[in-house]
Amino acid sequence: MTAGPRSTEWFARARAVLPGGVNSPVRAYGAVGGTPLVLESAHGAEIVDVDGNIYLDFVGSWGPLILGHAEPRVIAAIEEAARRGTSYGAPCKAEIELGEAVVGAYPGIEQVRFVSSGTEATMSAVRLARGATGRKIIVKFAGCYHGHVDSLLVAAGSGLVTFGHPSSRGVPEDFVALTRVLPLDDEHALETLFAGEGADIAAVIIEPVPANNGLLLQRREFLARLRALCDQHGALLIFDEVISGFRVGRAGAAGHYDLVPDLVTFGKVIGGGMPVGAFAGRRELMKELSPEGGVYQAGTLSGNPVAMAAGLTTLEILEREDGWTRLEELGAYLEQRLKPVLAASPASATLGRLGSIFWIAWHAETLPRAADAIDARAGETYAGIFHALLAREIALAPSAYEVGFLSLAHERAHVDRLAAALEAALTATTAEAQG
Ligand code: PMP
Repeated sequence: MTAGPRSTEWFARARAVLPGGVNSPVRAYGAVGGTPLVLESAHGAEIVDVDGNIYLDFVGSWGPLILGHAEPRVIAAIEEAARRGTSYGAPCKAEIELGEAVVGAYPGIEQVRFVSSGTEATMSAVRLARGATGRKIIVKFAGCYHGHVDSLLVAAGSGLVTFGHPSSRGVPEDFVALTRVLPLDDEHALETLFAGEGADIAAVIIEPVPANNGLLLQRREFLARLRALCDQHGALLIFDEVISGFRVGRAGAAGHYDLVPDLVTFGKVIGGGMPVGAFAGRRELMKELSPEGGVYQAGTLSGNPVAMAAGLTTLEILEREDGWTRLEELGAYLEQRLKPVLAASPASATLGRLGSIFWIAWHAETLPRAADAIDARAGETYAGIFHALLAREIALAPSAYEVGFLSLAHERAHVDRLAAALEAALTATTAEAQG
């Protein structure tokens, strides 16, 4: 399946004025080849390209759209808020209400500050951790992505794995000299690092549900050991819940694993499809932020009333309609339908899933738990499958390392369509490879 004539024409125009034709790298199809679809609109579980083709979508704008595209009540809230002004640069009711909702939902946090992206959230949380502890070292894990923060662009996942760069040009060595990178799923490596540098570690940042380098679900014991070591050495634990927050449940991964971090970062779902990020923690830590404390942090559009309205409405609907339970049920159904199809394929694969997040692990019988455990052939196998699915009007993310998302707009019939198309795609691409 290649993009239609209008997508092709628009993407040629895009390439002239936008680097790579995109505003975020993985959208460019670099990992799967071909020309990206240029979209015109999206509703519920479907996206529509400029040629008028309709696709069943499992990308969900990379996670925010937990209710589906253009959910009418979210759109109504956005319209209503916009009519009262798109930005004030002053306190507004919606940011206070969303703040109360976030603080009330997540364990161990008392205050939250809103920003405009996940990257801003992690960048600010790291600064706060350093300011509050007076220490310098930040620890992250190989394969975890925390946005394009200079000091965290070390062995990151997401687009960086896709394009095979371990890090980014433009980040001087000196900027990452205080960042330590550890493998996931490895208590011994953790213990060794803490034994050597524990007194200098300001914070350890982790995606408790690593979902940017495939879905590398961690053992609870590993996360609990990390929590204990941070406590023992006076380091702060930051859960980056930009993907998992308000998606794997009301209390995110903290609730799922029953482990409470010192700081947490949010994005995606809390913005209901508008540009929102946030970081939160105990009052005693959050008061270190300006204007109360000496850790500077600010934003012209932070707490934007239109974005806050979208987030608030999204969380209210999830609560009212028992969203997380329904998503878990649909996720379980997806697992039940896809697993046998994958197991029967020549590229024997399996499915990783937590709630409404899923990932196909190619050439794997058991799910990998660390970045280097993923079979390097995954990318090659995936490109063919991706295009064969697109030809059947199903859109998965354009990279083997990206997860898929279900929303409340998805139904069992959509999952059935995915299972049937995947089976057909696997047969077609295998026949091609042999022929
Ligand atoms: N942290 C995690 C875990 C993410 O998945 C992402 C984005 N995918 C970010 C941070 C960065 O968020 P944003 O793209 O909104 O800057």
